[in-house]
Amino acid sequence: MPELPEVEYVARQLATTLVGRRIVGVEVCWARSVQGMLPEEFAARLASRSVVGIGRRGKYLLIALDGEETLIVHRRMSGNLIFAARIDEDPYVRVALKLDDGRYLLYSDPRKFGRLALAASDAIEQALPGLGPEPLAASFTPDVLAVRLAATRRPLKAALLDQSVIAGLGNIYADEALFRAGIHPLCTGASLSRDELQRLHAGIQGALRTGIEHGGTTFGRHRDVHNETGANLEHVEVYRRTGQPCLRCGTPIARITVLQRGTHYCPHCQPLK
Ligand SMILES: [Zn+2]
Repeated sequence: MPELPEVEYVARQLATTLVGRRIVGVEVCWARSVQGMLPEEFAARLASRSVVGIGRRGKYLLIALDGEETLIVHRRMSGNLIFAARIDEDPYVRVALKLDDGRYLLYSDPRKFGRLALAASDAIEQALPGLGPEPLAASFTPDVLAVRLAATRRPLKAALLDQSVIAGLGNIYADEALFRAGIHPLCTGASLSRDELQRLHAGIQGALRTGIEHGGTTFGRHRDVHNETGANLEHVEVYRRTGQPCLRCGTPIARITVLQRGTHYCPHCQPLK
C-alpha cells in the first residue's frame, strides 16, 4: 500500500511532467473508482481543465486544476498513476486522462480499492477525513509529536498507523521509524521520555526521507509514473526481515501482530520497558 514516500515521490515526478498540461479527454473504465459523483459528471468536469499544481496531504495525491478544483487521488492498496501512449498499455486502467501532448495519464488499480474525487481547491482539508500533521513539515517538531502521542494509550505502532494522529505513515515506515528510534512497537506514547520522543521524531523523518530518496518501497504494486518499481526495499532495516539478523546487533528480527498488521522489530535494540 502506498504510504507518504510513495505518494510524495510520484507527486514530485508529476510536478515536473504534468503541470501545464491540459486534459482533453476522460474515460472512466470502472465507475466505482470515481467517488462522490457519476462518471459522466466527473468526465465532463475534468475535460479541458489544465493542471496548475501538484501537492500531497498524507497519502493523498492532489492534482490542482484551473477553475479552483483539485483532483484528489487516493491510491489505497494498489493504485498507480502511469503515463502511457495508449489506454490499452495497462490491463488495470480504471480512469484514463488524455493529455494535450497526446499522452495518457492512466489511473491503474488491479484491486480497485483506490478512489478519485474532485473537490474545491480551497476546501481540500474538509474533503479529506481528519488528518494529523504532516511529519515532514517544518512545523512538525518533537513537541508536536509528544502532544499527538500523549492523547492515546494505544501501543505506538497502532498510534503511528492512525492517520488522525500523524498523516502518511503506514506499516512499512512505522516499523522502520520505531527501529531507528530503538523503541518497542508496544510501548505507549505517554511512556516515552524526552530523549525517546526526539529519537522517534528523527526516526519518522529519517525513514520517510530515505523512502522518498529511493523512489518508494515496492513490495506489492507501487510503481512510479514511468511504471518503474521503487528501490527502497533494499534499504529497509526491519520490514519483512523476520528471522534475518538485525543490521545493528545481529539478533534475529522478530514479528508480532498489532492491529492485524505484521510488525517487525529487533528484540535487543527495541526492548519493551
Ligand atoms: Zn538489533
